[in-house]
Amino acid sequence: MRLTDKETKEKIGRLTRRDFDEDEIYTFPVTLCHNDIDRDGERFSEEALAEMAELFIGKTGIFDHAPSAVNQMARIYDTEVVTDDSRTTKLGTPYQYLKGYAYMVRTAENADTITLIDGGILKEVSVSCSASRRTCSVCGAADMACGHVKGEVYDGKHCHTVLSGITDAYEWSFVAVPAQVGAGVMKQYKGGTTMEDFTPITTQEAFTAAAQPLIEAAVTEAVKQYEGYLSPEAHQKALDEQAAAHKTTLLAALRTKAAMQAGLPVELADRLTGETEEALCKDAEKLAALTKSAHGSYHFSAENGEADGVSAAFYKKNPKLARKEN
Ligand SMILES: [Zn+2]
Repeated sequence: MRLTDKETKEKIGRLTRRDFDEDEIYTFPVTLCHNDIDRDGERFSEEALAEMAELFIGKTGIFDHAPSAVNQMARIYDTEVVTDDSRTTKLGTPYQYLKGYAYMVRTAENADTITLIDGGILKEVSVSCSASRRTCSVCGAADMACGHVKGEVYDGKHCHTVLSGITDAYEWSFVAVPAQVGAGVMKQYKGGTTMEDFTPITTQEAFTAAAQPLIEAAVTEAVKQYEGYLSPEAHQKALDEQAAAHKTTLLAALRTKAAMQAGLPVELADRLTGETEEALCKDAEKLAALTKSAHGSYHFSAENGEADGVSAAFYKKNPKLARKEN
């Protein structure tokens, strides 16, 4: 341990609202970042590590994998830039890394997390910070505007981006990918634009010039997204057709029902007129009354040509509805 317990307690005490007993607090070291070239062909300058050492104190760490994030938070209470004499960077320079000392208040919820840290399973950390300068390692050009290509070697100089001028450190989080142990610390680079570089838009023309490409891109994107979809008109037509088909089916059912209720043979249902159940029932009753008065029967008879083989079959199947024979 780098600090005596008293020092540790004091540093943690600056960040907590009350004093904790030693057994209530769990402390552990994390490697936040280093000065070696990472997978993106970028590296933090030694000055950047020192800047981050200041900025990360008090910053919260989260555990992406943890179900209860609230109870799974840790904070950095101390940092130091460490030189690892046992290794060098890809450039052959001394390997330096920013070591953070974090604490957690022990709870029932984070007991498993603490076990994972103790067991060395949780060790990869991802950090978020703002670097205001991104310069070419070969010529020092800002934002790699020189055309030098990362990964290439120019006159014995390896080309990569040097990140420096750290303006803020936001948070750090454990990456739940134990399989990547040794893969190195991941970092996020958040923009190189500082307020000094920012030119405010003051005229309508400038605004249009700036916004137009964005609008066009958004429209193109939206059009692409809905390729193959119906036009609003075609969609409405399809909806109308569906509604019309539904209405036709419904009316057919209502006509049959009205005919049955009025004691008419179902094959006469098609003759009923009306757009509502009530109208259809009225029409069916009217028709039934006519047939009754004409024949003293609820049904048409074969004599006046209204009945046919279909109705005969219907009555055979539905003897309860069978006509009264005259
Ligand atoms: Zn360059």
